[in-house]
Amino acid sequence: MHCHRNQTSKPEQQEPDADTLAADSIRKRGRRVNWNGRRANETRKDAHAELEILQELYRQGRTEGRSLKMVVSGEKICPFCREDLPAAAEAAGFEEWTIFEELSGNTLYWKRGSDHFVELEGYPQ
Ligand SMILES: [Zn+2]
Repeated sequence: MHCHRNQTSKPEQQEPDADTLAADSIRKRGRRVNWNGRRANETRKDAHAELEILQELYRQGRTEGRSLKMVVSGEKICPFCREDLPAAAEAAGFEEWTIFEELSGNTLYWKRGSDHFVELEGYPQ
């Protein structure tokens, strides 16, 4: 699973202009728009892969009170996602999110109530 900006390899989206679970937090923080007038991770069509996975689990009702573990390979988690994913996870009702970033060998860990990931060395315990 990658954090990428290539729209073509994503699953079909039913509502590309719908807000993501991170949209409120992105607007609150006043992120500037891109050249195309849009913001990373604000709508479904601009959601990076990690957020898209979270959206899909949420749609399936598989987030409330749950813990999520994933591995990101090939790329590092981008600065936007580092900023946006905690708020999205909170909105989805997750308790914890653990992401092993293969490229760095580090683990990002978020727990409900926190607005950021803690970065830990090595594979998750
Ligand atoms: Zn990203």
